[in-house]
Amino acid sequence: MESFLAAAIFALGLCFGSFLNVCIYRLPRGKSVVTPRSACPHCGDPIPLYHNLPVLSWLILRGKCRSCKQPISPRYLVIEVLTGLLFLGCYGHFGLTLAMLKCTVLGYLLLGLVFTDAETKLLPDAMTLPGLALGIGFSLLVPVNDLASRIMPGLVSPAMRMSGEISWRWWSLADSLLGAAVGASFLYGVAAIYLRARGVEGMGFGDVKLMALIGSFLGTKLTVLTIFAASLSGSLFGLSTVLAVWMKRTRRNRARSASSRASSPISPKHARRRAWQSARLALRYYEMPFGVFLGSMALLAFLFGNRLLHWYWRGL
Ligand SMILES: [Zn+2]
Repeated sequence: MESFLAAAIFALGLCFGSFLNVCIYRLPRGKSVVTPRSACPHCGDPIPLYHNLPVLSWLILRGKCRSCKQPISPRYLVIEVLTGLLFLGCYGHFGLTLAMLKCTVLGYLLLGLVFTDAETKLLPDAMTLPGLALGIGFSLLVPVNDLASRIMPGLVSPAMRMSGEISWRWWSLADSLLGAAVGASFLYGVAAIYLRARGVEGMGFGDVKLMALIGSFLGTKLTVLTIFAASLSGSLFGLSTVLAVWMKRTRRNRARSASSRASSPISPKHARRRAWQSARLALRYYEMPFGVFLGSMALLAFLFGNRLLHWYWRGL
């Protein structure tokens, strides 16, 4: 029975993943996700319902369109499987509870946003704003249990507390709203500083709305943790990109100077410096999709953040 339920939840996840693929392709292009029916992006051939099965269709067609034989991105398969695993993972972590539903919805939204950001560098309002509303709504069903829930009940009169006039839902709602406000204003501040310092827009307003969504689900504490973890992993990723470009250029320059040694010798030091300059230039023009890091770290923070913070405070 247990394993049957798990299999059913996984299959449900695959179907939702299939729909998420449609959202990732259409929403940044401003298209409707309801009509028209799915079609091949290369030849426009409509995809019949029996070829719309998640995972199976992709495998049967071997990742190619049935009429024009153009390759279909493996991203479709990856999203479907990841969504299936997300559904299954939330069930394993929370059991069949409202908390499971909340985590599944959060993960589903983040999965869509992370892949949309990675592909198009856009975070569509059609995903972030309904997500923010869902996060606030869920705070009335599943307690956020954050700063406001700890502090605010102490501020009301004991008589009111005793009479049970104020339900936990209000504190939870306050936690959700506070988390959204803190997340959004933090990112807004960073974006404004970045714009002033470098004269180019490093972070879009989409990241601000994404952070409001994350804050509404996670509350303030885990939101701050998310921003910290995303900055750290984003910086490490940026640094390794620069190093990879630098090493590649150095190797190429060395090969080139070896082949043309007779005509114009370049000193190794000079070659290294030139490689470093081009690596820095590559980074300047490379726009990092910061939403990818924010989104993935938010899901990790939601699942393991409290345990991590608890362990950390105890260790001090
Ligand atoms: Zn086609």
